[in-house]
Amino acid sequence: MTYNITDKGYYGEFGGAYIPEMLYPNVEELRQNYLKIMAEPSFKEEFDQLLKDYVGRPSPLYLAKRLSEKYNTKIYLKREDLNHTGAHKINNTIGQILMAQRLGKKRIIAETGAGQHGVATATVCALMGLECIVYMGEIDIARQAPNVARMKMLGATVVPALSGSRTLKDATNEAIRDWINNPVNTHYIIGSVVGPHPYPDMVARFQAVVSEEMQWQLQEKEGKTTPDYVIACVGGGSNAAGAFYHYLENTDVKLIAVEAAGKGIHTGESAATSALGKEGIIHGSKTLLMQTDDGQITEPYSISAGLDYPGVGPMHAHLYKTGRAEFISITDDQAMNAGLELSKLEGIIPAIESSHAFAILKEKNFKKDDVVVINLSGRGDKDLQNYIDYFKL
Ligand SMILES: *Cc1c(COP(=O)(O)O)cnc(C)c1O
Repeated sequence: MTYNITDKGYYGEFGGAYIPEMLYPNVEELRQNYLKIMAEPSFKEEFDQLLKDYVGRPSPLYLAKRLSEKYNTKIYLKREDLNHTGAHKINNTIGQILMAQRLGKKRIIAETGAGQHGVATATVCALMGLECIVYMGEIDIARQAPNVARMKMLGATVVPALSGSRTLKDATNEAIRDWINNPVNTHYIIGSVVGPHPYPDMVARFQAVVSEEMQWQLQEKEGKTTPDYVIACVGGGSNAAGAFYHYLENTDVKLIAVEAAGKGIHTGESAATSALGKEGIIHGSKTLLMQTDDGQITEPYSISAGLDYPGVGPMHAHLYKTGRAEFISITDDQAMNAGLELSKLEGIIPAIESSHAFAILKEKNFKKDDVVVINLSGRGDKDLQNYIDYFKL
C-alpha cells in the first residue's frame, strides 16, 4: 500500500485526468515534462534560492510554550504564516512559474476564490515579468476588495466570472475555458492539490518543502525527525499535503486533517467534504465532493474563504478512505475561538483557515510527551475584519 501517487496518476481509486479532449495537449505536455524539469539541477537550484531569498524559507518550527502548557502536551507550530505574502501558497506559485518558464510559456492564468492564490500568482508573475490573468467570481470580487487591489497593483488583470454562483468553481471553469483557447503560450497555475493529473502531484511536491524542513528542524530540537502528530487544515488540501508529504508512508506519525464544518456538518452550510462527500469528478479529477443525489455540486460554506471548496484533492480522498489520516470537522465558532486563543497565548494571529487546525486541541487528548506539529498555514491580517465582526472588537 502506498499513500502517494501511482505512475498512472492515482491515489488509490482517486485522481486521474478526466478532461475534455481539447485540454488534452496542454495537460499531456505538462505530464510528460514536470518530473524531468523538477529533477534538473538548475531548476532545483533556482527554486531553492527563491524560497530562501524571496519567500524567506526555511519557515521556523516554533515551540509554543504557553499553548503546550495549557493543553499539557508539546506543540510546535510550522510558521508558514511568516512566508512572503503571508501563507504557504507562494511555495507552489514559485514552483509553477519556474515550470512555466521552462515550458516556454509567456502568459499565466489562475483562478482564485478569496484572492489568496490570485495574489500569490500575481506576485510571481511580477517577479518574472510575465502576463497574469486571474479569474475570480463576481461575488468574490465584491467580498475581497483588498486582495483585488493587491493583484491589480502587482500588474495582474482580474477577470470577473459571471456565470453560475459567481464564486470559486465558476472562476475555475473560466480559467479552464481560457486554457483551452490558448493552448500554446499559456500555463494555468492551479492553487491547490486539485485538478487533473499531474497537478495534484506537482503541487504536493512543491509544498513538500514544508515537511522536508520539519524533519531536520525536529532532529535539531527533539533528536528525531518524526513527530507523533501532524495537524493541518484542508480546503483543497495543499498545505496539508506539504505538511504530511514526507510522513505519508511512516504510519507511526499520525496525520490529522481538519475540515470546515461551517455552521455544523448537517446544517446545509458547511464545507466538510470528506464527511459529506461522495465520489465524483470535479475539475478533472475523481475525488470526494459535496453533491446532490443527482450529481449537482453543492454550494459549500465556511466562515473561512480558503476552506470553502466543494471538493478535496485526490490525495486526501485516499487518506480518508484508507484511514491513513483522521478527518475532523470544526465549526466556524470553534475555529474563531481557537484563533483568539492562539493570539492571546502566543501573540500570533492566525488565518481563519489555520484556526480550524488549532481547534483540534480541544477535541483530542494528546499525551504529555507527544510531539504535536500544527501547520500554521497563514497569517490573520487578511481576516481582521472577520475577527472584528465576530468578536465585536
Ligand atoms: C488557501 C488557504 C488554505 C486552504 O488551501 P489548501 O490548499 O487546503 O492548503 C489554508 N490556509 C490558508 C492560509 C490559505 O490561504
